[in-house]
Amino acid sequence: MKKVLIIEDEQAISMVLKAYLQRDGFEIFQHYEGIGAIDVFEEKKPDLVLLDVMLPGKDGWHILKEIRQKNACPVIMLTALGDVDYRLSGFKSGADDYISKPFIAEEVVARVHAVLRRSASSSSTNTANIRQYGNLRADFSSYTIQLNGEEISLTPRDLSLFLFLAKNPNQIFTRDQLIDQVWGMDYDGSDRAVDLAIKRIRKALEKWPAAEGEIKTLRGMGYQLSVSEN
Ligand code: CA
Repeated sequence: MKKVLIIEDEQAISMVLKAYLQRDGFEIFQHYEGIGAIDVFEEKKPDLVLLDVMLPGKDGWHILKEIRQKNACPVIMLTALGDVDYRLSGFKSGADDYISKPFIAEEVVARVHAVLRRSASSSSTNTANIRQYGNLRADFSSYTIQLNGEEISLTPRDLSLFLFLAKNPNQIFTRDQLIDQVWGMDYDGSDRAVDLAIKRIRKALEKWPAAEGEIKTLRGMGYQLSVSEN
């Protein structure tokens, strides 16, 4: 049974979400304030977190950052209606999805399923869980990449993007395909998000010799992780 942690101070909202998610077979844990949220997260080890932004004690962005220091557990932020700045700061801190309030519970349940499917496919147990390209090692089960034995630090989304390319080397993907894979089908931002993510990844991997592998831009087509197969 998949576990969902709801961090939300409005009890009525929390209870409605709990009822709908339980009906869909999820096990639910609830926490009603910012303080102590990370302790509950560590104790319950949820498969997904629904995280309100405005919380007493400590806000949701803060908690998201704490969660990201632990692992890549999917997080859906519950934001105030139309709050564009929150959305942007969320991209920086690595939330997996956003739902604006007021929302209908069915929508939240659908998003929970979508995000869980996505995270399952990006960390799926494909034959080998580790690929080594020269000095670069991509580990799909621990969700890490190492270069020369040192872990490369990237946002969870950039990491997902690189791991997806690393799992499918020498294949060309359009920006739309990458958005579907990494951001999800319901992403409504621009292709530029992909370009910016690729730029950050290249920078993080600048010490990786191009002879071992590199992300290539194929004009008019998309991106490819080009590696020498041997
Ligand atoms: Ca709130």
